[in-house]
Amino acid sequence: MVVMKFGGTSVGNAESIRRVIEIVSASRSRSPFVVVSAVSGVTDALLAAAKKALGRNVSVREIVSGIQDRHSSIIKELGLDSDLVSGELAELEHVLFGISLVRELTARTADYVASFGERMSAKIIAAYARKSGLGAQAFNACDLGMVTDGNFGAAEILPGTYEMIAAAVKKIPPATIPIVTGFIGKTSDGEITTLGRGGSDYTAAIYGVALNSEEIQIWTDVDGVMTADPKIIPDARTVDVVSFEEASELAYFGAKVLHPKTIVPAMNKGIPVRVLNTFNPSGKGTLILKTVGKSDRSDVTAITCKNNIYVININSARMLLAFGFLHHVFKLFDEFRVPVDLIATSEVNVSVTVERKFDVSELVERLKEFADVAVLSGRASISVVGNGIRSTPGIGGRIFSTLGKRGINVEMTSQSYADVNESVVIREERLDEAVQALHDEFFGTSAKASRAVKQQVAATKLE
Ligand code: ASP
Ligand code: MG
Repeated sequence: MVVMKFGGTSVGNAESIRRVIEIVSASRSRSPFVVVSAVSGVTDALLAAAKKALGRNVSVREIVSGIQDRHSSIIKELGLDSDLVSGELAELEHVLFGISLVRELTARTADYVASFGERMSAKIIAAYARKSGLGAQAFNACDLGMVTDGNFGAAEILPGTYEMIAAAVKKIPPATIPIVTGFIGKTSDGEITTLGRGGSDYTAAIYGVALNSEEIQIWTDVDGVMTADPKIIPDARTVDVVSFEEASELAYFGAKVLHPKTIVPAMNKGIPVRVLNTFNPSGKGTLILKTVGKSDRSDVTAITCKNNIYVININSARMLLAFGFLHHVFKLFDEFRVPVDLIATSEVNVSVTVERKFDVSELVERLKEFADVAVLSGRASISVVGNGIRSTPGIGGRIFSTLGKRGINVEMTSQSYADVNESVVIREERLDEAVQALHDEFFGTSAKASRAVKQQVAATKLE
């Protein structure tokens, strides 16, 4: 059995849904278990609708109409029954009307509203699959054992959820292809919950584990993990295999293929997760495994970057030979809920990077009470990621000399003991050029040639 999850853009219009069904159909012999997201943009639209319903003198009818039109046109284009989701739309209208009456929106009600996206997309996709000759049926995950706690907006599964899923799925006739709602679950009291934004990947991982699937496929709109952002590096390639640790670093530092947290259950159980492109289904995609052997892989797996970051430099002679200084610093980051990306320290200095979307003005004022603080904007970080980084001599040297040769100054650098990530901070305006240079260094033709020589030498030694 294989779990196949299709994201919002993969089910974003009639044409994409046709592709999805072709892909599912081609995997028929592997017993697909399909998990779907809402039509792209619909979850946002639903949550916006719920907020709008809070206003005075609003017309709920009007609020629903955009969402209704979006689905009606897909249904029409696919030649399906025009009443297919009218039950869901009527229920949605009722809930929104309720919100507009009491003028209160709780996290619980927001989850209820958000659930309609997946409930409608699953129905549409299953109906189209049936029309295409597949024995498919739509299921609400709530009816297939997806029981969660009551932490609305970010619900977690319960210890018994896996067994409940397995038992519920067993009752589905074997020839049926289930088309299941991602993102949503329910409490044991029957209240609808959501697993957090982007939660359909998590749904796929949970079903994959519960059903002991051979593989979990995440079908999206990119070819997988790339050696660099293809918008910057047109000749970036897809990486065949990455370790979970590499995938996590890449996701955090810019390559947003999937949220690594969502596939933890699959990794713990040793189920491979493959990222594939609905719009290029013959591509191999990227396989994510818990661990990846060194074997013939290059030392560097991919290069990722983040622009729009601040460097906050904190300097204090009080740090010299003292303890507890870092505690004071990071307590404030905690208090202002500002996440830190990279850290570098020396005896009287701590530098951290922070995404520019966070307002650090008050935090900086407080830091200034006990240190000299400089905030540098217009910076970007580049992360060179690969399992080989912690064990291969010379990678740092290659990064520095590649940038140095071009006169690109490295203002900060960070690599911890067990890291698979070596990061540098540079000025934002040199970012594209720097990434290109590093990509040439690690993945260009000369890099390939030197790798071939290395392999040749290794082979000769073996003989
Ligand atoms: N539809 C949900 C969202 O937009 C879940 C998902 O797409 O994974 O967050
Ligand atoms: Mg999504």
